[in-house]
Amino acid sequence: MSDIKKYIEANKDRFINELIELLKIPSVSADPAYTQDVLNTAEVVKDRLEKAGCDLVEICDTPGYPIVYGEKIIDKKLPTILVYGHYDVQPADPLELWDSPAFEPVIKKTELHPEGAIFARGACDDKGQMYMHVKAMEYMTTTGNLPCNVKFMIEGEEEVGSESLGWFVKNHHEKLANDIILISDTGMIANDIPSITTGLRGLSYVEVEVTGPNRDLHSGLYGGAVANPINILTKMIASLHDENNHITVPGFYEKVEELSRAERDEMAKAPFSLENYKEALDISAVYGEEGYTTNERNSIRPTLDINGIWGGYQGKGTKTVLPSEASAKVTCRLVANQKPGKIYTLLKSHI
Ligand SMILES: [Zn+2]
Repeated sequence: MSDIKKYIEANKDRFINELIELLKIPSVSADPAYTQDVLNTAEVVKDRLEKAGCDLVEICDTPGYPIVYGEKIIDKKLPTILVYGHYDVQPADPLELWDSPAFEPVIKKTELHPEGAIFARGACDDKGQMYMHVKAMEYMTTTGNLPCNVKFMIEGEEEVGSESLGWFVKNHHEKLANDIILISDTGMIANDIPSITTGLRGLSYVEVEVTGPNRDLHSGLYGGAVANPINILTKMIASLHDENNHITVPGFYEKVEELSRAERDEMAKAPFSLENYKEALDISAVYGEEGYTTNERNSIRPTLDINGIWGGYQGKGTKTVLPSEASAKVTCRLVANQKPGKIYTLLKSHI
C-alpha cells in the first residue's frame, strides 16, 4: 500500500469526524440569520489550516464575509500552488426534500454511492473538496513530502456571487502570487471518472427593449401600418444566428481560440453518450453550431441565447393589441480571450 493510502487508512475516522463537524455549521451566506455561523466557519477553517501545517494563516477582512488565507512557503525558487475553495453553502431549502436534516450529516450507502457517502449541505460543494486539500496538505507536511509552496484562499461568498473576491484579489496581488491555481468546485464526468476542468465559460448580458407607438394600438385599425415592436424584436432575434447556427454579430468570434484537431481529439475521448444525453432531456435531436460536437458546443464555443421575452397580451384568449413595446433578455456564454465588455459593445452596436 502506498504511503498516502496508509496515512488515510490510519487517520480516516478523524478525517471524517472533522469534516462532519465542519458540515454541522450552517454557513449559509445568502441568509443574514446565519451571519454568526458563517463567521464561525471561517474560524474553524483557520484552525484547520494551522493544524495542517500552514506557517501563516489569517482571516482577512473584506467588504463582505472574510477570506481565510493560509500559506506554507518552503522555497521561494519552487513553484507555488494556490488552492481556492469556499466555506459558505447554499440555503437548505426546500427542506421537505431532505431525507435527513441538512446540517446533521449522515453517512449512507446508495445506488450511486455503494461504499457510502456523507449527506449534508455543503458535503460536495464545497466543504468536502476544500477539506480534501487541507488534509492533503496535512499529509505532506506531516510526512515531509511537500514538493512546492502552497497557498490557500478560502472564501465565504461563493454562493452569493463572490462579491468581495475581485476586491480581495486586486488588493492582494503579491500575497496571492502563484504559478498554478487549484480549484475543486466543478463537475465530474462520473463518480468513477476523475475529471480535470481546464476552463469555464464566462457571461455577457444585455436586455433589449424595442419601443414603437406611444400607446398600445388596435390591430384592426393600425395593424400593417405601424411597426409592431414584437415583430421587430423577434425578427432581430432571429437574425442573430445564421442557418448554420453561427452567431452573426460582427466581430463576435474575433478573439475565440480555435482548438487544434489534436486537442479536439483528446476532448472526444471523454466518455459521453449522445443517446443518454437526449434521453435524459427528452429530446429527439441535439441542436447547435455546425461543425462542432455537443461537448464542443457546450464548452469551447461561445453562445448567444434569449433567456426571457415579453410584450403584448399574455392573458387567456385573444386580444388584438399592437403593443407599444417588447423586451428580451440576451446572454452570451464566452470562451477564453473574449472579454464581456467588448462583447457587450459589439452586441449593442449590432442590435
Ligand atoms: Zn461551490
